[in-house]
Amino acid sequence: MQKSRRDFLRLSGSALVFLMGGEYFFGDAVGAETRRAFAHSSLKTLLDGLPDFDGVVLIDPFQTDSYADDFGHYVSLRPLGVLQPRNTSDIQKLAGFCFEHQIPLTMRGTGGAAYGQTQVAQGFVIDSSTLKTARWASNSMVELDPGLIWKEVLDFTIQHQRIPPVMPDTIVTSVGGKASVGGIGETSYCWGSIADQVAELEIVLADGQVTRCSRTSQSDLFLAALGGMGQVGLITKVVMDTRAVPPQVYSRQFRYDGKQVKQYLQDLEIIMAAETEGAIGGHLVRNPAPDNATFSYVLDVTHWLNEEPSWLTQISAPQSGPTKTWSFFEYANRNTKGWYKAVENGSVLNPHPYLSFYLPASEAEKFALLLQEKPEANFGANRLMLSPLKRSAFLPNMFQLPLSESIIHFRIYRIVTTGRRSPEHEQMIRHNLDSLVPAILAAGGTVYLPFSPLLTKAQLDQQFSTTARADFTLAKQKYDPRGILTVNAGLF
Ligand SMILES: Cc1cc2nc3c(=O)[nH]c(=O)nc-3n(C[C@H](O)[C@H](O)[C@H](O)COP(=O)(O)OP(=O)(O)OC[C@H]3O[C@@H](n4cnc5c(N)ncnc54)[C@H](O)[C@@H]3O)c2cc1C
Repeated sequence: MQKSRRDFLRLSGSALVFLMGGEYFFGDAVGAETRRAFAHSSLKTLLDGLPDFDGVVLIDPFQTDSYADDFGHYVSLRPLGVLQPRNTSDIQKLAGFCFEHQIPLTMRGTGGAAYGQTQVAQGFVIDSSTLKTARWASNSMVELDPGLIWKEVLDFTIQHQRIPPVMPDTIVTSVGGKASVGGIGETSYCWGSIADQVAELEIVLADGQVTRCSRTSQSDLFLAALGGMGQVGLITKVVMDTRAVPPQVYSRQFRYDGKQVKQYLQDLEIIMAAETEGAIGGHLVRNPAPDNATFSYVLDVTHWLNEEPSWLTQISAPQSGPTKTWSFFEYANRNTKGWYKAVENGSVLNPHPYLSFYLPASEAEKFALLLQEKPEANFGANRLMLSPLKRSAFLPNMFQLPLSESIIHFRIYRIVTTGRRSPEHEQMIRHNLDSLVPAILAAGGTVYLPFSPLLTKAQLDQQFSTTARADFTLAKQKYDPRGILTVNAGLF
């Protein structure tokens, strides 16, 4: 009887096995019995059919287990194998193979999504982190590989005194991932999402064909790929606009009592209207013990057009502390050290059942109060984001915002310190799933797909505008007719 993959994996124990250039390589720990078992396993039969890659296919559980995980540390789906591609052609070959055999296939950036969206059971994952080339396509456009993280992009563009207009708050997630989810940063209130900066994409389709698309060429594919959670193709190049870096930037902080929600929200509107270029980061922060049941608002505004902006005299809160004058590069890296420290001390391994969502500004006060008052809304979170966005700054694609012009972006940074799947972890997941997501959608809000539990069919109808849903479905049928791509994002 043939050994199953599970039997083989059990046998292989701590062994290292990988496939490169059509040959199997075993680590020193692999004994003769394991090699014999592997030679007759169903896994080997499948792998024997794989095309030759320039990159590497990982099949050892010690290596593939990290792909059965993500920032949420809640969902765990083990793939059959992981391709670390050397080039686009490797991705085309694996897609062609998976298409022919109807095997699920997903591409992964850094696994920053928190609810299993980058994972796939009994399928293949493509790890984009081996693709990291950047080049100037023109004086202002860069062509980026999907596996570059935003820190690497900034390090590249800053050499030409240019910057990506929108970057994530912590610049450690991938270019391909952000194009696929939308991506919001502190400058989004003026320039929209990260996906909105993209001018052209190179995409490997489900059947392995490679194509280029933009707003004017194969726009159905382009618009379904941006914010589309990997549903219509695998992004292999991102061509994106950049801006001149400001010579220096000024950062100011303002504090509000938790009860001053009206003033806080009004001030966000004033700054958003007056500061046509800048960065706004607003948070609700739990007050330290012994008073840790109450909250304060902390508003960080970074600006560069005027050293003394007009809105300073119009907002209600006095500035707390001195103005910080620093370079844009330092500002963009404001969370980088903290992130690497968290990697080093292992706290990134704590489960992160984050919930990120967008509400019409008219609903924001009600939710801001709920977040302070209801334990189910703030359980596990010492920080919650409340930052402003305006709809007119965004372009149409699959990243969905509420229909109102003025929008508040909420993010509940829940962290579990009692272990994966502990009662507290399960409770936080249930609060997100049962209380908050339905309330957000009922209030005309939308969720941020990588930081939201998967939606039901009815919730997907609420999340997507009717036109976006229809266009997305058509594109899915056309470009992934066998439905093999990124099945675990739960969108189709
Ligand atoms: C430390 C940290 C900071 C974050 N900061 C922000 C922030 O400031 N703003 C914000 O908006 N979000 C932020 N996020 C949230 C979110 O995780 C990411 O926006 C998103 O998941 C992209 O991260 P990633 O590159 O790891 O992509 P992944 O999580 O690996 O992938 C996200 C989705 O895109 C698909 N995908 C990835 N690459 C490709 C590709 N090349 N082609 C096709 N599909 C692909 C995946 O299958 C998955 O469905 C952050 C997450 C973390 C962990």
